[in-house]
Amino acid sequence: MLSSTLEKPVQYLKGVGPQRARRLQRLEVSTVGELLYHFPRDWQDRQPTLDFSLPTANGLVVARGRVTRALSLRAGPRLGLLKATINTGSGSIEAVWFKHLSRRYDVFATQQKEIVPGADLWIVGRAEASLAGIKEVHVEEYYKLEYPRWALHVGRLTPVYALTEGLNQRLMRELVDSALAHAGEIPELLPRAVLERRKLLAAPQAIKGIHFPGSQAELEAARGRLAYEELFLLELAWTLKRRQTRGFHKGFSYDIKRRLLTPFKAAMGFEFTSAQKRVINEIFSDMQKPYPMTRLLQGDVGSGKTVVALSAMLLAAENGYQSAFMVPTEILADQHLATMRRLLRGLPVRVERLTSAVPKKEREKILSAVRSGEVDMLIGTHALLESDVRWPRLKLAVIDEQHRFGVRQRATLRQTPSVDLLVMTATPIPRTLALALYGDLDISTLDELPPGRRPAQTLHVPEEEALLELKREVAAGRQGFIVYPIIEESSRLDLQAAKAEYERLRQGPLAGLRTTLIHGAMPGGQKNKIMSEFSQGLWDVLVATPVIEVGIDVPNATVMAIQNADRFGLSSLHQLRGRVGRGSEPSRCFLIADPKTPEARRRLDILVSSHDGFRIGEEDLKLRGPGELLGTAQHGELSLKVADLIKDRELLACAREDAERALSTDPTLSSPENRRLRQRLIDLYQQRWHWIDLA
Ligand code: ADP
Ligand code: MG
Repeated sequence: MLSSTLEKPVQYLKGVGPQRARRLQRLEVSTVGELLYHFPRDWQDRQPTLDFSLPTANGLVVARGRVTRALSLRAGPRLGLLKATINTGSGSIEAVWFKHLSRRYDVFATQQKEIVPGADLWIVGRAEASLAGIKEVHVEEYYKLEYPRWALHVGRLTPVYALTEGLNQRLMRELVDSALAHAGEIPELLPRAVLERRKLLAAPQAIKGIHFPGSQAELEAARGRLAYEELFLLELAWTLKRRQTRGFHKGFSYDIKRRLLTPFKAAMGFEFTSAQKRVINEIFSDMQKPYPMTRLLQGDVGSGKTVVALSAMLLAAENGYQSAFMVPTEILADQHLATMRRLLRGLPVRVERLTSAVPKKEREKILSAVRSGEVDMLIGTHALLESDVRWPRLKLAVIDEQHRFGVRQRATLRQTPSVDLLVMTATPIPRTLALALYGDLDISTLDELPPGRRPAQTLHVPEEEALLELKREVAAGRQGFIVYPIIEESSRLDLQAAKAEYERLRQGPLAGLRTTLIHGAMPGGQKNKIMSEFSQGLWDVLVATPVIEVGIDVPNATVMAIQNADRFGLSSLHQLRGRVGRGSEPSRCFLIADPKTPEARRRLDILVSSHDGFRIGEEDLKLRGPGELLGTAQHGELSLKVADLIKDRELLACAREDAERALSTDPTLSSPENRRLRQRLIDLYQQRWHWIDLA
């Protein structure tokens, strides 16, 4: 096959030398084809502005006309300006160019030649009131009518690209336009049947249309086609993955012996909720199937996921198999160790914990006990994924708070494909989205809280009031949290602020209380020490960063005050307040915030009025989009540039259906028509996720 122009380096295009090629490389553009797939980040409507007295939608003024007068002036010691009057046919406007003056050359040399009476121009700029009160246009771009490529830049829906130093919009548009001369070579990935069924644009039209759409409708059609393509590829990958898993024979089976399960249930101290029973049944029935389990367990904070997971781990232990339980933080690993040991007291089950904070000697001991099979359950952070952890009989892997991990880590824990996998999350998301994100998973939902559980009453109050209530609770023998919004635990500035606040509280409003601080940058051992002291009741108040967001369980803590609550996402706030209300006493969560926008106020209202994690998750999705909610890393792994999992829900459903259909007629995509599709899937997903096997 002749190699296509699209695979040639960008330098093949006129106007691109080694330097520009290096700059484009920073945008991950090194070939002509990649330039075509560098989609605009926005489009500006640059039709000529009709009425200059009205503000335009995007703040831009666009005009075409003839220069009737031009002069250049000095506006200040360093600032020069050039003024021109332009007659548009329906009136005249004052256009102004500003530039920093240079000692070495005349900054207006070109303009003075081009912007002369009689010249026909397009200008693009912003309308400002001049000192004299007359409206003038501060020009940002201009094109002479005799310039042959002006129609790329003005008088149309004009693309705006992500740039990097040394590149500008004008250059990008012209380079993309040159590359588009080869758009005819863009291969069609989508099967003809799909193109027809969904009435999609052909690939070259879509690429042309996304860069230089002739109309808003054309832009939508182009975007829709490209979004569909991404979603179709994603769904093909998931469908293949699912089929592959189902076709795999794990080669062992479970017997429900109840040797451990029954005494565990008897000693647990409470009854399973009916949701827990249902979900445990779903999990057990998965585990007894001949192919490996891949199940997502969604359940709101406090819905009791831990004992569900523990039941599955006990089923494994009853059958002589090992299980791994992976959590995102050391604190959580420690806490789960304590909880599980307590719940399993008296049973012949050995539970250990492995994190990077475990001292070397102890680590060696644990590792050798895992290797010899003496350890039944190993709890840990991603330290579990290290290569010196060897399991002779690992059959079940549980991942808690899975949204904190990436797809890749999930795949790594399932070292051998026969391991049953249970992933758990307290950030429930709508089903359609869950399917797109975890398309290879079956989904179980814990939609019921244990009886007697009263969610924390949430109030938006001033700080003094929150602290007063906190002190009142402490006087009654209970404990509380004060949380500071550190988004980036490693950010030194945020950390300093939290420390300063801690000092202020300790010496001021909370003087006399036993108050301590915990934050993510502390060494693991120290964090654990503080956490365990707090659970033992040695501290009244824990000032914390969101390290406590996930999983911490201290029933005696009944108050939480969240400072600058408007700086957190809804789902994080919901998780945070789930740290209180875990005991029998009523609990409260105080949101301390001074929301500046109606949207910020609305978000706080949602929390005050709702305790439904699903609803909150959905609101969060609407407000912030899936990337934010799920962690950009995870979202990024899906390779979606155009598609939006929220806005394109319907397209997603179509893509899913079409993927199923395509694979049921051609399970390995080896027909000539599907050859390119197959290659694209391998390029996109096989290497990145070690996912699909298209042997
Ligand atoms: P999450 O789903 O947030 O991980 P946990 O598993 O930590 O929730 O459970 C929260 C608390 O509820 C724990 O203290 C746990 O022991 C308790 N719990 C779990 N299931 C029940 C139940 N069926 N009845 C009463 N308490 C329960
Ligand atoms: Mg939990």
